[in-house]
Amino acid sequence: LAGVPLVIDGLTKAYPGGLTAVKDLSFRVEPGQVLGLLGPNGAGKTTTLRMLMGLITPTAGEIRVFGHRITPGAPVLSRIGSFVEGSGFLPHLSGTANLRLYWDATGRPIEQAHLEQALEIAGLGNAVHRKVRTYSQGMRQRLAIAQAMLGLPELLVLDEPTNGLDPPQIHQMREVLQRYAATGRTVVVSSHLLAEVEQTCTHVVVMHRGRLVAAGEVGDIVATGGEATFRVDRP
Ligand code: ATP
Repeated sequence: LAGVPLVIDGLTKAYPGGLTAVKDLSFRVEPGQVLGLLGPNGAGKTTTLRMLMGLITPTAGEIRVFGHRITPGAPVLSRIGSFVEGSGFLPHLSGTANLRLYWDATGRPIEQAHLEQALEIAGLGNAVHRKVRTYSQGMRQRLAIAQAMLGLPELLVLDEPTNGLDPPQIHQMREVLQRYAATGRTVVVSSHLLAEVEQTCTHVVVMHRGRLVAAGEVGDIVATGGEATFRVDRP
């Protein structure tokens, strides 16, 4: 199991007040897969990813990343790059300067080559030298992805990275994820859009009301279960 990027086993999260947002969730992600965590609002995707990032603790079950159990502050968290919407960039600094500042704060030295590769994958071109206040929403989002990719983590975790983007920006974001996956690293990305998962991911886990309702290769799920799963939510 040491080489497996992600194993989730019996994962459950009950919030104080009684709501169980994630119920007995189990799946695994193999190296090089792009896994889409798919489900409507409230399915429990964000809760799952926050447990994976070590931000909240499960009520039951466990998450292992490269064989190491995720707990708050676990050293293995440094092997996970995570994107959370609305990263606070300093508008009067360039994209590159913002990333350097962020990385310095982590206390880990960054290799110039890694910085350049992350920026290249993010596809911001020469705009990385411009002040962030001149960026479009899509560019800010891709800078946030570049930030998550700094150090080229073996596991990249993204919670709805296309939220708030228009179709051309969504297309660019998809290319960013595909370029990252092409380096052989593993990606877990959440979405509430079947079409988006179909276009971006190799594998999918479908969640509904905290439970896994389907999992497998994207082609198989789209052909058999995806549509049926989403009909559940329609009146
Ligand atoms: P969305 O796309 O809307 O973010 P999601 O699939 O990511 O949906 P979660 O955000 O994980 O779903 O929410 C799952 C359920 O848990 C929802 O019913 C939500 O209201 C509830 N929930 C989320 N965070 C908390 C919290 N801190 N305290 C109590 N309930 C919460």
